[in-house]
Amino acid sequence: MAKTKPVEIKVKMCRPCAEKLKAEGKVKIGSSCKDKNECANCHRRKFVYDCELINQEPPLIIPIKKNWFYKIIEGVKKEDYREIKSYWTKRFELGDATNKVCEVIFKNGYTKTAPTCHCKVNIHTGYGREEWGAEPNTEYYVLDILKVIEVKM
Ligand SMILES: [Zn+2]
Repeated sequence: MAKTKPVEIKVKMCRPCAEKLKAEGKVKIGSSCKDKNECANCHRRKFVYDCELINQEPPLIIPIKKNWFYKIIEGVKKEDYREIKSYWTKRFELGDATNKVCEVIFKNGYTKTAPTCHCKVNIHTGYGREEWGAEPNTEYYVLDILKVIEVKM
């Protein structure tokens, strides 16, 4: 199989943004730049660094029912559950790991414009809460919702 090389995009960012994204493995910090203009990430501070954005694997898109979608946005539902079956095992790419912190996009519907909720989650196996949609005494892939990053309606 052909290996795809990550795409690098040059952007100019302020120091806090550059350092934050570098810590997340999303950016390579290059030289500091002389001209000062708006940071490409926060659009608030002036940029100071030439950076190369490393194109990450796009987050996994997970379909979700409307009811649960809104409960996640509202911060009421803090976990989502998926059956332990090969379909999800492959998609979550857990390998030998017992848990994985990653980003996913919950999508309510299948059209291009369907509402989405981009979240940071910790995926592991365990039991869920019935009020959040889990069946009793059933083991699932539990997605702990650590943070809602962005909601698009
Ligand atoms: Zn910034």
